[in-house]
Order: sequence, then C-alpha cells, then structure tokens
Amino acid sequence: LQPATLSPLRSTPAALHRLLSVLAVLEQRDGKLNTGSLSAITAAQKLGGTIHAFLAGSSIKPVAEQAAKVPGVEKIIAVDNAAYDKGLPENYAPLLVENIKKGGYTHVIAGHTAFGKNLLPRVAALLDVQQISDITAIENDKTFVRPIYAGNAIATVESSDEVRIITIRGTAFPAAEPADGTAAVEEGVDPKVESATEWVGEDLAKSDRPDLATAPKVVSGGRGLKSKEEFDRIMLPLADTLGAAVGASRAAVDSGYADNSLQVGQTGKVVAPQLYLAVGISGAIQHLAGMKDSKVIAAINKDGDAPIFQVADVGLVGDLFEKVPELTEKLRA
Ligand code: FAD
Repeated sequence: LQPATLSPLRSTPAALHRLLSVLAVLEQRDGKLNTGSLSAITAAQKLGGTIHAFLAGSSIKPVAEQAAKVPGVEKIIAVDNAAYDKGLPENYAPLLVENIKKGGYTHVIAGHTAFGKNLLPRVAALLDVQQISDITAIENDKTFVRPIYAGNAIATVESSDEVRIITIRGTAFPAAEPADGTAAVEEGVDPKVESATEWVGEDLAKSDRPDLATAPKVVSGGRGLKSKEEFDRIMLPLADTLGAAVGASRAAVDSGYADNSLQVGQTGKVVAPQLYLAVGISGAIQHLAGMKDSKVIAAINKDGDAPIFQVADVGLVGDLFEKVPELTEKLRA
C-alpha cells in the first residue's frame, strides 16, 4: 500500500512498447456508441503499443466507423450479431476470449461499468488469469493503482500474468474523442455460443437532465431533505438553474426521496464533476467514495461539524430549506 498519490506512468522502453498490444472493449447501446467507454482507449494509449478496439452487436458497422475515428487506434474488431446487443456476459465472455486469443493481446481494458464489471472477471476466469479491477492509474505495463476500502487506501498492484484483464475507473481516464483517426474495421471471430440467459426487458429511468456519471456539475441531496416532495421542490429547480445532474445519498434513496439510479457512493455511481454540491448530506465515507475526486466540492448543511465540511472547498452552514431556494433565486438572477 502507498499513500494516495498517483504517480505518472513511468517511461516504458521503446522496445517494450512494440511488444504491447492492447484490446480496448467498447460499449454500444441500441446502435449508439457509448462514448464514455472510449476511456478504455485513453488507458490503452497510456500503456503504449498497438491498440485495437472491440465492438459487438447488430448492424455494428456505423458504430465501428465512429470508433475508428479515434486517433491512435489501429484496428476495430467488430462482430455483427444481434445475440451480443445486450452485452449478456454468458455469450459475450466466450466471444471476447476467442478474439483475445486470436489477436494475442497482452492487455484487455474495459470501463468499470455494469457491462465491464459483468464481463471481464468472466473473461479472466476463462483465461485463468487474475482480474485487475477499477484502476485509477497505470505505472507501467504490469503495475496498476487502484483504490481499496471504499477509497480509504490506494493499492499498487503488480501482475505477472501474460494477459492482463483490466477495468478502469472512468473518472480517472477522460474519454478519447473520435477525430481524424483512420483505423481499419475488421470482422472478428464469432464462436456463436448460446447464452443460458435470455434478455427479457429493461426499465430505464428517463431524464432530460444531464447524465449523472458524466455531467460537469452535480447537485446531490441527502436525508436532510426530509421527503420526496421536498427533495423535488428544493433540488430540481437548483439543478435546472445550474444545468446540473441530480444525485443523492443512499439514505435519500433508501427513504424513497430519489431514484436508485441517482445514488452516489461506494455502492452507487462514482462521479468526478467540476462542481459537486452536497445538500443535507453528512459525508459518510461510503458517500465520499463516490465523489471526493470532484474538482470543487461545495456543501450546505445545518451542522457545522458534519464530516462533509472536511472535504468541502466551499461550505455553507445553514438550513437548506432557506439557503437553497435563496441560492437558486440568486443563480437565476
Ligand atoms: P445522514 O447521515 O442522516 O445526514 C443527513 C445530513 O443532513 C446531516 O448532516 C444533517 O446535519 C443534515 N441536515 C438535516 N436537516 C438539515 C437542514 N434542514 N438543513 C441543512 N442540513 C440538514 N451512502 C451513500 O451515500 N452512498 C453509497 O454508495 C453508500 N454505500 C454504502 C455501503 C455500505 C456497505 C454501507 C454500510 C453504507 C453505505 N452508505 C452509502 C450509507 C452511508 O453510510 C450513510 O448512511 C449515508 O451516506 C448517509 O446519507 P445522508 O448523508 O443523506 O444522511
């Protein structure tokens, strides 16, 4: 274990760079590239070596062509088959393993998202190697930095496996952007393994507000809001005035004030916006685990001793039912 300082990537000798070959696993949903998953390419670029990206699903070509525009990517391996549309790990893991074996990759990287967390440990098991989860920095081709104990300690781990299967924390690697790249799109191998699991359906929370995981501004409400009605009355106008995404503490979610998809923290989403405003949130370590890397942390709480003030850059001690509407009014003006 080492203190919570992330060292920059140590220089890797040029000869080693040539031996590295990285497969970045990208995500798509309903024929649209999940641009957040392009973080895997940023991490691959930090490792150096040859970079290929992987995509699977029905009519995958337009998505593959969009990913091909990311500079530095040599090849997009695409498998066109509707069986992979929903990313079910039961058939996606053997698909990925076949393509990893064919390409002889030294590293495979995906986001530490529901998709990546579901898929990559199975891939690691099928290859009989260790899964390396939720990394926030790369020291060299075998040494990686990852938070443990809800971010209270930082572990530096070294892997001696031949293939390193890695998920990355999206907030630590900004998504690469499609620009003037000219990667070739190549058809991958398709083992057509039947999935033992059938996709039945999904019930997605829809919102016109910015996506919590990627929004530059987040306003989060906690148990201090007292009820769902008050949460909506106080937090939503503030979010809309700031153009911010809405988040919540687990206590607020468990009490039914906010939807489960809005939970920030150890068992919720990890966010690192430019601005994180915590309203009526005490600042338990499990909450801090999901937001303490935010650039500016602001807090409103009536208890001046609340632990949130220990991580806040800006704090206001006061009654949120009075202060937040006043703040919203001033922001509007
Ligand atoms: P409280 O701790 O009750 O704090 C409410 C705050 O509101 C207080 O500080 C109070 O002073 C303030 N307040 C009250 N009224 C007002 C007012 N009128 N004006 C201004 N301020 C006011 N928590 C998460 O958030 N995310 C997680 O992912 C998460 N994962 C967990 C995982 C595990 C395994 C465990 C054990 C716990 C987890 N928790 C998580 C729960 C966490 O420990 C805390 O219980 C939770 O974060 C508390 O939420 P809160 O700050 O909203 O509520």
